[in-house]
Amino acid sequence: MTGHEEEFWNWYNDIIENADISDKRYPVKGMNVWRPYGWKLTLLIDEQIRNAMESTDHDEVCFPLLIPEDQFAKEAEHIKGFNSEVYWVTHAGLNELDIKLLLRPTSETAMYPLFSLWVRSHADLPLKVFQLVNTFRYETKQTRSFIRVREIHFFEAHTCHVDYEDAERQIQEDLEIVEDIMKELCLPYLISKRPDWDKFAGAYYTLGIDTLMPTGRTLQLGSIHQYRQNFSKPYEIKYEKDDGAHEYVHQTTYGMSERLVGAIIGVHGDEKGLVLPPKVAPYQVVVVPILRKDITTEVLNECKKIQEELKEAGIRAHIDNRDLRPGNKYYHWEMRGVPLRIELGPRDMESNHVILVRRDTGEKMQVSRADMISTVNEHMDKISSNLLKRAREKLEAGVKVVDSIDDAREVAGEGIILFAWCGSYDCAEQIEIVLNASILGELAGKHSDYYRNHYRSIVGDGEHRCAVCGLGTDKLVFVARTH
Ligand code: ZN
Repeated sequence: MTGHEEEFWNWYNDIIENADISDKRYPVKGMNVWRPYGWKLTLLIDEQIRNAMESTDHDEVCFPLLIPEDQFAKEAEHIKGFNSEVYWVTHAGLNELDIKLLLRPTSETAMYPLFSLWVRSHADLPLKVFQLVNTFRYETKQTRSFIRVREIHFFEAHTCHVDYEDAERQIQEDLEIVEDIMKELCLPYLISKRPDWDKFAGAYYTLGIDTLMPTGRTLQLGSIHQYRQNFSKPYEIKYEKDDGAHEYVHQTTYGMSERLVGAIIGVHGDEKGLVLPPKVAPYQVVVVPILRKDITTEVLNECKKIQEELKEAGIRAHIDNRDLRPGNKYYHWEMRGVPLRIELGPRDMESNHVILVRRDTGEKMQVSRADMISTVNEHMDKISSNLLKRAREKLEAGVKVVDSIDDAREVAGEGIILFAWCGSYDCAEQIEIVLNASILGELAGKHSDYYRNHYRSIVGDGEHRCAVCGLGTDKLVFVARTH
């Protein structure tokens, strides 16, 4: 770990603790306690996910936490991938179980035996469900709040389709959902098609969703998988076609986790603490009364009125009427990332104004009471755009183009590296060793055109050549050190 990374993690751990996001003192490693403010933030992220899923006709379900061993073992690649990560339940009371149960690491093997009962004819397709639950993975590396934990707050969508093409359409829809959700969270991201050796256990292919953290390493925020019929065959998920013949369904999944919280903290935070995107901030506005001994009640009453007006307009507003100096309150809410602060003192009351302060820029404005709601809404939009813009600029600046392994050596550890790759395992291995990094995969999704043009603008228009062996190729890949 570099000094810079260590500094980041110290900052990150302090903020999580001081801003009441999570408590790591629970006596099981990697299983943290969500504190009220952090849980509110997480539920608001979940709400963004639920809205996106409901608007694309996915239905929410909730499957059991425990999965029987025999059901888990049906898809050979899947069990190989997860075997070393699962927690087992071996006893019920004093009795040893005949068939051990495991805590879900993900829910394919919980859901698919039921899908085989639910799907009968083509009229039952597509089947599109999702759940927001906790999953368990025995993580052996150093745990980090929200980023590497053993109990994971998890979102997973599972779909079944008549054929491969319809499953591919689902993946396109998933990519649009990713774009919508990330926009609300103001998080820039890259989509990469993971190399075969790094795809999800049992998948035909995997698309990774990554963002760049201030450490210069990428953080995988989620993934989308095309399963083809890899699970439907062992789990017997079949439908009857028009002609009476039976066909196995094609399946996809799309997953994200509480890493979104870690990314929001890391990507947007600054030296004062959290900077929360307005869409998911537990409080979008905090109202701070500036009291003078003689007219305390009037100011407090007016602040309550302001809070009511904001709430009626659908804005999450909190009034801080604790017996503390205003400066302490500013510090408290700045650290918690509240997007806007309203200050109201006797003089503002007289002139029918409030003072509005932005967390992201520190900008301070005098706003007339009549324009308060519209100005607050306007600035919440501006904060969202600004957070996304500045994070996207950092991500784009963090992508370095290289066209030879020597170039790669020079920029190792400086973010994400974009290079042409012939597709051979040997070349991938060489570049991973030289950079001490992992291949994220081939450019995919809506940002791939941008990065293709970026590559051409630096290397030139001709045929791309593998940065390691020099063979002609059209594959452009990202490589980065990852969390
Ligand atoms: Zn090569």
